[in-house]
Formats: sequence, C-alpha cells, structure tokens
Amino acid sequence: MAGIIRRLDETVVNRIAAGEVIQRPANAIKEMIENCLDARATNIQVTVKEGGLKLIQIQDNGTGIRKEDLEIVCERFTTSKLNKFEDLAAISTYGFRGEALASISHVAHVTITTKTSEGKCAYRANYCDGKLKAPPKPCAGNQGTQISVEDLFYNVSTRRKALKNPSEEYARIVEVVSRYAVHNSGKSFSVKKHGETVADVRTLANASTVDNIRAIFGNAVSRELIEVDIEEERLAFRLKGYISNANYSMKKCIFLLFINHRLVESNALKKVIETIYAAYLPKNTHPFLYLSLEIAPNNVDVNVHPTKHEVHFLHEDSIIEIVQKRIEEKLLGSNASRTYFTQTLLPGPAISSGETLKPAGTATTSADKVYAHQMVRTDFRMQKLDAFLQSSNQVHQKSLEFDANESSCATPVNSDSQSMYEELNDSEVLAPANEDLDDFLQDGEAGESTKLLSETTPPRKRPRTESDVDMKTDLTAASVPRRRIIKLTSVKELRSAISEHAHTGLQEMLQNHSFVGCVNPQWALIQHQTKLYLVNTSKLSQELFFQILIYDFGNFGVLKLSTPAPLYELAMLALESAESGWTEEDGPKEGLAEYIVAFLKKKSEMLQDYFSMEIDEEGNVTGIPLLLDNFIPALEGLPLFILRLATEVNWDDEKECFESFSRECSMFYSIRKQFILEDTAFTQTEAFGMSEKPWRWTVEHVVFKAFRSFLAPPKKFAEDGSILQIANLPDLYKVFERC
Ligand code: ADP
Ligand code: MG
Repeated sequence: MAGIIRRLDETVVNRIAAGEVIQRPANAIKEMIENCLDARATNIQVTVKEGGLKLIQIQDNGTGIRKEDLEIVCERFTTSKLNKFEDLAAISTYGFRGEALASISHVAHVTITTKTSEGKCAYRANYCDGKLKAPPKPCAGNQGTQISVEDLFYNVSTRRKALKNPSEEYARIVEVVSRYAVHNSGKSFSVKKHGETVADVRTLANASTVDNIRAIFGNAVSRELIEVDIEEERLAFRLKGYISNANYSMKKCIFLLFINHRLVESNALKKVIETIYAAYLPKNTHPFLYLSLEIAPNNVDVNVHPTKHEVHFLHEDSIIEIVQKRIEEKLLGSNASRTYFTQTLLPGPAISSGETLKPAGTATTSADKVYAHQMVRTDFRMQKLDAFLQSSNQVHQKSLEFDANESSCATPVNSDSQSMYEELNDSEVLAPANEDLDDFLQDGEAGESTKLLSETTPPRKRPRTESDVDMKTDLTAASVPRRRIIKLTSVKELRSAISEHAHTGLQEMLQNHSFVGCVNPQWALIQHQTKLYLVNTSKLSQELFFQILIYDFGNFGVLKLSTPAPLYELAMLALESAESGWTEEDGPKEGLAEYIVAFLKKKSEMLQDYFSMEIDEEGNVTGIPLLLDNFIPALEGLPLFILRLATEVNWDDEKECFESFSRECSMFYSIRKQFILEDTAFTQTEAFGMSEKPWRWTVEHVVFKAFRSFLAPPKKFAEDGSILQIANLPDLYKVFERC
C-alpha cells in the first residue's frame, strides 16, 4: 500500500533545517561570535551552562540592533549584510544569509538584549520559532548586544540525546572561542562556565597574536613559533600565521585555519602539512599551526554548506603548493639553527656538576694543558662589533654624578664564599678588560670621561669580612661609611643557596671573558678562549641584581629621585597596563591603588632599612636602591614593580619576603628589551640628575663588568639557553681544512 504524502508542518521543516545549521552548541557559538565581529565588537564574553545545552550567553560591545529590527532578526533570510546575489562575491562580513539566529530560535529559547549608540535605552526581546513573542521591552543596558540561548534542542529529542556529554561540548566551545581569540588579536575574548569567576580562556585587548597563543596554548609552543607571511599577486592571495618549528611537537596536531577570517577546515592543506612535518618531528608527533589565508572574495565560494565549514576557492592546488614550499623553507631554516644551538652549551669542565667553587685564577692548572691550536689572543683595543657600528659619541662626555648618599658596590660578605670573592676581586685587577677600558676609549674626550668616571666611582676594594673593626684604617675614602653586619639567618641562608648553586665553569668563563658586542638589549656576544657565546643579558642581569640584593642586604646606597613619584599614580599606571592582569573582578582600580599606597607605607621603614627603598609620609617613592655604580634601572618598570611589591611579595615569612622582594626588585633592574629602543640611552637619567649613557655602553661597561666580578651564575644557566655556545675555533679550523 502506497504511503500518503503529506506536506510537513512548516515549523517541523524549519526545525530540521535548523538542525543542519546548528549541530551542537559550539556551532551556535561560532555563528554568534561571527555576528559580534560583524557588529564591530572588540570585547566578546561567552558564558555557558552545562556545555551550552542549558544556557549560552554572549555579550558584546558592538553596534547593537535597532529597536525596529528586533521584530525580524530571528526570521529566516533576514540580514543586514546582503541585499542582492552579486553582493555575495564581495562579501566581507561573516554572516550573509540571515540563517543563524533563525535556526537557533527554532531549536532554543532566545533572548536578545541590545542597545545601539543612538538608542535611548536598551531593549529586551524573546523569540520562539523565529518569531518575536511580545513587543521588545525597554530596559537598562550598555551599548552592544547580549544574546541568551536557553535549553538548546529542547524540541529535538534525538539531537539532545546525542549530546549527552556537557564536558565534551564545553571543550568544543572553548576550542572555538580560543581560535577566534587567536585570530582576532586586538579584541578581547573570554569564555567561562556560568557561576565561575575565572575564565577558562581570556585574551586581552592589547595582546599580540603570539601573546594570545601563549595565553591559550602555553609557553612551550609560543617560544617555538616561526612567523610565515606570503603575498602572491598572481593568484591574489595572502597568507599570514605562525607555525611551530622542528623543536616542538605534540601528540595531536593543532591547526587553526582561517580563510577570509572564517574558521574553516581544509583536509587538502592539512594533509600536505602533516607530510612536511613528518620529516622533521619524532614519529607520531605533530605540529601547531595558525594560518590565516586571505583570498580575493570573488575567488572563494562560501556558499557551499550550511555550516560554512568547508570553503572552496579558485587555484586551490596552486595555492596549497606555494604554502607547502614556504613552510618547508621555514622549517629548514629553523632546523639549521637548532643543530647550531644545541651542541655543547657549556664552557670547560664541570657541566652542571655539583662541584664546589674554585677560586678564580686556579682554573687553568697544569692538568689542562693548553695546546697551540687552543690558544687565543684577544686584545680589547682591537675589533669589537661596536667599532663597526657606532661613532665615537657612543661614550658620552659628561661625568656621572650620583645623587647617592652612599655609594655601593656589590660586595658579598658571606663568610662561606668570602675567599672566593676575595680572589675574585683580586683577579678583577688582572682581568684585562677592566684595565684596558681606558685604552679602548683612547681618543680625546672619551678617555677623559672614563677618568672622571673612575674618580667618581668609589674604590672597588672594600673590606669584605664580617668583622668590621679594622675598617676605618683600611679605607682612604672617608665618604664610605661603615658596612653593617647582617646576622639574620634568613639572609645567610639565601647567600649560601647562591654559592651552592653556582656553576664553576660558567663562572670562570664570565670572569675571563672578552666582550664582543650587543646583539640587542637582550642578547650579547662574548668570547672565552676559543669559543663564542651568546649570552642572555636580561636573565644574567636579573640574577646579578638578585645576588647583589642578597649579598649587599642592608648596605645599599640610595638613588634619589629628583621628583618624588606618588605611589598612587604608579599603582594606577601599573593597573592600567596589560601585564598587571587586572580584571573587573579585582574591583575598581582606584580602590586597589589606595590599598597599595597604604600597604607600602606601612612597610616603608623596613624597606628603607634593608633595601634603601625610600617612601615618604605622603606616599611618594623618593629613592630606590643603588645596586651597582653607574647603573640606574629603566623607570618604565617602576609602576609594575610597585604593584608587584603589593601582590607578589610574601610579607609574612622573613626569608621568603627578602627573597621575593629581591626577585621583584631584580626584575625591575634587569636589562629588558621592551624598555630599550635601539640606539637610545636609558632615558630616565634626568630623574636622577645624571647624564645619559647609551644602553650599549651600560651593558658592556657596567653590567658585563659586574658579571666578571660579582655574578655566581647558577647551574640552570647552563641548561636553559641563557648562555649558548655558538662557535668554537678548533671546529672552524676543521671546516677550513677540508676546503
Ligand atoms: P547574518 O549574520 O547572516 O546576517 P544572522 O541570523 O546571524 O544572519 O543574524 C541576523 C541579523 O541579526 C544580522 O544581520 C545582524 O543585523 C543582527 N545581529 C545578530 N547578532 C548581532 C550582534 N551581536 N550585534 C549586532 N547585530 C546582530
Ligand atoms: Mg551571522
């Protein structure tokens, strides 16, 4: 018997069609995020309950929807983005067929709250099966749109049963939001579960693409990224993105692909990429890729599938081939640098061994005989990188005048490591670089400036015993006051931890190195014997200042600020910055800043006594510790330092307090790339009434000089890439012999 054909009820048809567009909560969220971006939102917050099945809420700060349009937004084929078929060819917005909201409203209860910039107030409206249920109600609200989707698939029991695992749905939601967040750097995204205060993914408005990758996928991958950028006029496409290098791999491939800013999948491209990486990565491991492909809109066919997942485009094969070639080139490049850097990282003997420290100077014993081919001649008057790069005004002519009521040089007083440091200071006199400094700056005024410098510099040699009794007779410079003896167990423990963790080989290398030149503020090249090393100035300088803070504890000079800096403003500045990580949940910035002022004022006596950090009655910073002669930190770091004093320092436990304070302070003092623009001086010198010094000069003559004398490099520097051997002369000879 033949079945009777009946016309289906219209709402049933719509529901089936809707199910094709919206297959799961993550699809709905993708559509709605695209709508937010179409509405030029810069802040998009997603909240979900039960993997989005109970509730999806998306709040944006975009244009909003006009009250007149609220009537029809959820009907099918209503869109503000497309008028006639030809427009499809030049489409630049995500949505274009007015199908998403309609579909969602056929399978869920939708509530829209929205306000435009012209609208006097916000309006709220409820929808069911594509229709507005009642006239929109005026209500309070900020500009933008909030869309709530409740009880998704409440009327499609098969679909609801298929999606019974909310945590899996939530994982997919987080994935979609994360990917859009990476692709839309400059806009902030967050996604969290309803009722939670902390977001599972959150990106900040002023973060870069790499910052976002770091925030979402972790440090391990963000450190190993290679940038790709292709522009091809003939095929009218452009590709930008970041791919992991051959050093990085993981169990599952992460591939973020955007074509014309739409999150899509391309199996053809994915296959090609997996094949390339297979040659570089360990078996069964995979890369991370984020690629954004832009193709002339009229070459893309976006109208393929309701989910718009799959996109086809003209010249697909040729474009994929070009992308493949470029990725191969990039990987080859990074692979070369890998073998380059991972050879022997370390100088001399004692690679991360637990050896105790040998006094400097005893390093070359008769046991390590030096053969002719190992001998090196380094002469500081000879070529350095700077000689090729910079004119003689590199060294400024004015003398340094510190407004310091006490001069300081980092002098360890720990009796355990005392002998080592005594030796160390003696050897400093022998170290050629220090003595040859004047020679290097031979001509005219430059040479004079060095003299002035050494005149204003207090004598380096200071008694470094804990018994201060003989001090006065020892000293010619009466200006140097008595050194306080620190008997605190906590400080002593911190000091011995430093000497315990020191790496003999590295220390010997730093003591006897020749400075070659600064690559940039973060990296410098030094030579030791026949080897060339790349040294992370930021990391080593931070460690240097940390050790100075511990060794010179309670004995610092003061760098007086010529104008006191109000703590309140510093705290506000810090809270305003992205690094502070401030969110609305932390409460108003003003309140926090006031709290910080009050808190640090309470600590001022201790800060001044132990760390020469001066805070006055009015809550102004008036002085910071003088850790190293001729060195002032970049004051851009002061606000964050102040904030972190209140948030990161553990004030409750003595030892931890001193340690964490010193960590924070040393970070502030370290040479950091972001605060130094190429070829500018440290700019805040006026704040201390000092003359300017180019940063390169400071790095070479102050910071690296101090590495020679005061730094006991921890063993970890041998392993974490802080010091890398990049060339070895005997190896180079071998290469040449073959020619
Ligand atoms: P499409 O995006 O294809 O136009 P949708 O069903 O996704 O269709 O959205 C319908 C219309 O609703 C959009 O054209 C837009 O005018 C409006 N709209 C949806 N979401 C937002 C939003 N977050 N902000 C402003 N307008 C929106
Ligand atoms: Mg849309």
